[in-house]
Amino acid sequence: MSVFDLSGEVALVTGGATGIGRAIAKCLAEAGAVVVIAGRRQEILAETAAQIGGRCIPMRFDVTSAAQAPEFVGQVAGQVGFPSILVNNAGIHIKKPALETDEAELLSVLNTHLIGSMALTRAVAHTMLARKRGSILFVSSMAAIFGIPNVAAYTAAKSAIAGVVRALAVEWSPSGVRVNAIAPGWIDSEMSRRAMENDPKRRERVIGRTPMGRFGNADEVGWTAVYLCSPAASFITGQQLAVDGGVSIGF
Ligand code: NDP
Repeated sequence: MSVFDLSGEVALVTGGATGIGRAIAKCLAEAGAVVVIAGRRQEILAETAAQIGGRCIPMRFDVTSAAQAPEFVGQVAGQVGFPSILVNNAGIHIKKPALETDEAELLSVLNTHLIGSMALTRAVAHTMLARKRGSILFVSSMAAIFGIPNVAAYTAAKSAIAGVVRALAVEWSPSGVRVNAIAPGWIDSEMSRRAMENDPKRRERVIGRTPMGRFGNADEVGWTAVYLCSPAASFITGQQLAVDGGVSIGF
């Protein structure tokens, strides 16, 4: 049996219909897991699930409805099975100078990335801790590692996630639940394309400071998610693994 085999696991991937989340869902399903993808747009969810195939189930959920997280996890458990893997991937991006970022924008980014993912994490963790197994993965960012201009709200959210991963990992390690993060470098997706829109200099700068000299592709993050959620990573918790073509260690 391969140590990367996820047969018998049920994974819940937020933002699983597009970009990095879609690739994570596809790779987890290829590794044998049954995968529920969640997001706000039903049509795109259904389209992606059909493309990934029988082991992928679309379920509509807005992660900012934090109070509904336990009910949603109950629906997943009832229809598919209780998640043994949670991937908190859903995210939004606001690119503007810090001085122009108002409280509503800060809150909306924090609600999506931090409050929403914490609510889902709590909703799955009770059962994971009782069962003494489970893997929770957050999608972080280079913004949690070094300063990037014009993304103050996003940076606040991703930096908070980096801390939460450490805190949950030490609390839950004795119960066999692992908590990790992937910090993608610049990955080709709808979100990164929008962030580079009308900003060719930023694009050049990204490529110029990435030792591998290119954007990553979403599957490269997807396979890392398989690794971190699989028995191959059974002694790894509290880590933030950069999947970045060397950006975070480059000069
Ligand atoms: P996308 O814009 O393609 O994906 C974002 C996904 O999140 C969409 O599927 C969206 O679906 C979902 N989403 C947004 N808000 C909510 C919500 N309130 N409830 C449920 N789902 C929601 O971008 P990426 O694939 O690039 O981003 C995925 C993650 O990767 C994000 O956390 C992002 O911060 C992170 N990341 C991306 C990098 C990159 O270079 N692309 C680099 C570093 C980190 P819908 O709108 O239908 O709800």
